[in-house]
Amino acid sequence: MSDISVTGAGRMPLHTKMLIGFVVGTVAGIAANLLVGDAPWLDTLVTYVTDPVGQLFLRLLFMIVVPLVFSALVLGVVEIGDPASLGRIGIKTLLWVLLVTSIAVTIGLVMVNVVRPGIGLDPTLVAGLMEQSSARATEISAAREGVSGLDVLLNIVPRNPVQAAASGDLIAVMFFALMFGIAATVLRTDGTRSFVAATQGVYDICLKLIGWIIALAPYAVAALLFSITARLGLPMLWMLAKFVGTALAALGIHFFIVFPILLWTLGRMSPLAFFRGAQPALLTAFSTSSSSASLPTTLKVAVDNLGVPRRVARFVCTLGATANMNGTALFEGVVVLFLAQLFGVDLSLPQQVMILMLCIFGSIGAAGVPGGSLPVIAMILAMFGIPPEGIGIILGVDRLLDMCRTVVNVGGDMVGSVVIGRSEEGVVDSDAASLAGSTVGDPLATPRA
Ligand code: ASP
Repeated sequence: MSDISVTGAGRMPLHTKMLIGFVVGTVAGIAANLLVGDAPWLDTLVTYVTDPVGQLFLRLLFMIVVPLVFSALVLGVVEIGDPASLGRIGIKTLLWVLLVTSIAVTIGLVMVNVVRPGIGLDPTLVAGLMEQSSARATEISAAREGVSGLDVLLNIVPRNPVQAAASGDLIAVMFFALMFGIAATVLRTDGTRSFVAATQGVYDICLKLIGWIIALAPYAVAALLFSITARLGLPMLWMLAKFVGTALAALGIHFFIVFPILLWTLGRMSPLAFFRGAQPALLTAFSTSSSSASLPTTLKVAVDNLGVPRRVARFVCTLGATANMNGTALFEGVVVLFLAQLFGVDLSLPQQVMILMLCIFGSIGAAGVPGGSLPVIAMILAMFGIPPEGIGIILGVDRLLDMCRTVVNVGGDMVGSVVIGRSEEGVVDSDAASLAGSTVGDPLATPRA
């Protein structure tokens, strides 16, 4: 996936710039908080300079979320549902994505509820922060106010998809996209084929735009972090460390406990053999932070090292690069709950179930590129009345977490291809390279990204 560069405009890699932005914004903000915390000019600086810069970045993220989610989901469904291309494997893949992603998000949500990394900040500081953004948050979440129980489920189906998109009702947009994709798959005419081709164009353009927007991230990170730490001071950093620890622990549980159990029971493959064989793809995922960029390696490794039949690997891993993102879904859940705790937004159990569903669909809709889940997270936050600028708090440490969740995403694609390959052929085993060798053609053919 070369559309999204992992380097900035200059020679310095983007993640290094983001880290610098994080450090500069945080150190300057804390220094300002400690030295001149009460000075009126600091308030002016935050209100008229750093806040607007951060807002600009958030607005750009919001701008692409609807076309991105719509096009990615339509294309995902069309790929799964094409009768000529493995309809049965499509259903198994869909079930796999839904089941394993649900497990991942549940782990994330339980971890945040148990560890409570966002609890403990001085309520008056949080109230101040909430006040800054309450108008915007209220406006965006107004459509969802007073909605509960059965309404929450009914609201998944939009009365008017354009209105749903306009009011930021992401799950209704997703439902509409899924229905559109299914119809476009069932009805194969010249018209629907051109629609799918045009949708692919929209998706590609969205990826390009994400690349440009993410290039602004270092400056936005510095601005957002300055605004937040200048107002809140040191306690914010301790909170951040707890957040990173919680997210990494949850990702670790999914990767080192859930995957091995699935491999043992459903894939009948030794987890050790899996990790040894999958290593090149996992390392690529770690270093690029992009499922799409890792796809050629993932395909090659699944076929050559894990013995997955080529047709199964191509279908499951290609689709998985955009649609099966266990680590991303888990991370989305952790971020949303963490920021809800931080900003004192109470989320009931039904709301958390709603978040679980949004994270599953949100991970399907997220692009497999560095930071691909950020627009989706910003939108989910707004839907629940959590200030979206909270995303600035996690952006500075996002690179490390992105690297780790992409490893879990790509690992999940390979585990899925092993399990589905096993169920299809009954010949997948840890030493099946020779078996697979006979079917290895060009494993890099036709990846969509
Ligand atoms: N970087 C992730 C991936 O490519 C997506 C994300 O969670 O931002 O898999």
